[in-house]
Amino acid sequence: MTPATSTHCPYCALQCAMTLTPDVGGVTVAGRAFPTNRGGLCKKGWTSAELLSSPERILEPMLRQPDGTFAPASWEEALDLVAGRLAAGRAEHGADSVGVFGGGGLTNEKAYQLGKFARLALGSSRIDYNGRFCMSSAAAAGNRAFGLDRGLPFRVEDLGAARTILILGSNVAQTMPPFIAHLDGARKAGGLIVVDPRRTATARLTDDGAGMHIQPTPGSDLVLLLGLINIVISERLVDTDYVARRTVGFDALRRSVGRWWTERVQEHTGVPVWQLRELARRLAEGPGTYILTGRGVEQHADGTDTATAAINLSLILGLVGTEHSGYGTLTGQGNGQGGREHGQKCDQLPGYRKITDPAARAHVAGVWGVHPDSLPGQGLPAVELLAAMGEPGGIRCLLVHGSNVVVSAPNADRVRAGIAALDFLVVCDFFFSETAALADVVLPVTQWAEEEGTMTSLEGRVIRRRRAVDAPAGVRSELWIFRELARRLDAPGVYSANPAEVFDELCRASAGGTADYSGLSYGLLDTDEPAYWPYPAGSTGTPRLFLDRFAHADGLARIVAVQARSTDAPAQVGGTLTLITGRLLEHYQSGTQTRRVAELLTARPEARAQLHPATADRLGIADGGWLELSSERGTVRCRAEASADIRADTVFLPFHFAGDECANLLTDDVTDPISGMPEFKKTTVRVRALQEA
Ligand code: SF4
Repeated sequence: MTPATSTHCPYCALQCAMTLTPDVGGVTVAGRAFPTNRGGLCKKGWTSAELLSSPERILEPMLRQPDGTFAPASWEEALDLVAGRLAAGRAEHGADSVGVFGGGGLTNEKAYQLGKFARLALGSSRIDYNGRFCMSSAAAAGNRAFGLDRGLPFRVEDLGAARTILILGSNVAQTMPPFIAHLDGARKAGGLIVVDPRRTATARLTDDGAGMHIQPTPGSDLVLLLGLINIVISERLVDTDYVARRTVGFDALRRSVGRWWTERVQEHTGVPVWQLRELARRLAEGPGTYILTGRGVEQHADGTDTATAAINLSLILGLVGTEHSGYGTLTGQGNGQGGREHGQKCDQLPGYRKITDPAARAHVAGVWGVHPDSLPGQGLPAVELLAAMGEPGGIRCLLVHGSNVVVSAPNADRVRAGIAALDFLVVCDFFFSETAALADVVLPVTQWAEEEGTMTSLEGRVIRRRRAVDAPAGVRSELWIFRELARRLDAPGVYSANPAEVFDELCRASAGGTADYSGLSYGLLDTDEPAYWPYPAGSTGTPRLFLDRFAHADGLARIVAVQARSTDAPAQVGGTLTLITGRLLEHYQSGTQTRRVAELLTARPEARAQLHPATADRLGIADGGWLELSSERGTVRCRAEASADIRADTVFLPFHFAGDECANLLTDDVTDPISGMPEFKKTTVRVRALQEA
């Protein structure tokens, strides 16, 4: 009998533990006891092995032909072509004419090697990744306030002892269902508070005395938080001892929030004054209070300041860096945490170091065996990188790994036009994603159950991904591809295709950085001992951060006074509504994988625009009928879902679908000036009924 392999789910950052057992029918999945999922899995996890034998899998390199079709090729032919075109592009237009786009689902080893390959083998500064659309604003806020960004600076299971948990803009009951078991303590204490413009599955967990659902105007989260801070200060609920001992910046915060008196906050957010006051008092009751943010409040052009306001609220209540309370941000993508630590961000080197820091450059260059001056400088964040496609002095060739940018990036039509203007596009994927379908070369890669590696979960725990089955003969790992391309490009440095060797190098490169992995090894991780970074050599890791000091040189947290730049709600005239985008239980990210799982697609075969029955009536739209949403960027046509769970001024569209249903045809590529996060959660759209599709 084939032994079962212990590994983790390929999808979200909860990284639920599972066992995979190959059998005659394929691979059997079973949940496995682990602190984050306690043996549970969601629909996506249960069905994840279907993709291994999907008939849609790409099983050999594919080259675009003069007539526009694809034809299979040998690896030799495909890699020679790619290396030749990259070398020619660099020679003619410079190294920065080659761009690299990574993904938050790549293992730590791949994310690390991708950053090294871009900077060393290609000599390009232009690398960034899809986590820019996901965690960048919360990460920027965490770095600014604490000097370090780890999504949850505590263990997930710590939440079980909480009496109050405030969740701002996250629908965990659908995005990571096993997580909700950790909310039971707060629910029993009547202290689960969910802030969301929709009455989501998570918001419904507050029913029957379990807590409170607050349903603000989309995009008013920053004002809501500034108002809460003002109440905490004016009602003398501040933990003054903590603020004096552990923070700087309180006086400026106090002066800045006076303008957000409760009636004014109610006017801007739609949240009644009584609810604002009750929420502030509940949060201050402690101990056992946690504040958690998600993409709903972070995916905004003021996302860093909004996350900062949530941190400020947590700091003045004395929640951060204690044994019994905390602040955290809920990472979404499978390796959204590790993906932002090892150098695939345009501004970072491995170890979560700044690429502009001379000491960081010297350290990493030393590990790579090159002179620091040979490393390029800071590149462009994702939206700018994509906008540079085909522009004078911009990107001429693009390599995409583990990302489906024509569905997941904002202003999707502009991205598609940029790709059309490229000289050469290479995509590494398992399937013909909508982006792969536009490529000149598609290189088929291994899936999670076919490879060794490590991932870092939403709580900063480094875990082992293990091979359970052999990969199909024609596919290769990205590490092998990087090695083969680097060899053909005659690149400096060593590019191992062995994940354990790459991990060892990654650990050396991270030594001394904030995300320090230098005490880790596959041998240690294979013992399944919990391994939370920072894990410097000689340590036993750090499950709970900031207990004694924050990561700034003086050990103090920064309270940064922020202001709402735009407080006007979009005008609600005629058929104009505010669009928010988000996820469904059955699908993941751009849907490249989950739209290919029969059970998931059958359950949710299409995007449906959720709008309030009163709004639907007013606009003459029937439940299940067709409608059109349009913005200054584009138009979506899909069916309607009438539901009293959403505000009357708001329409919700899931972002997992492509074609006419692609939500990002509507979204704007305006970004947060600090983090580069696009505005995904507040788009003005016109909505009208259609007679038919
Ligand atoms: Fe996988 Fe996330 Fe579902 Fe767990 S919650 S089974 S990690 S998709």
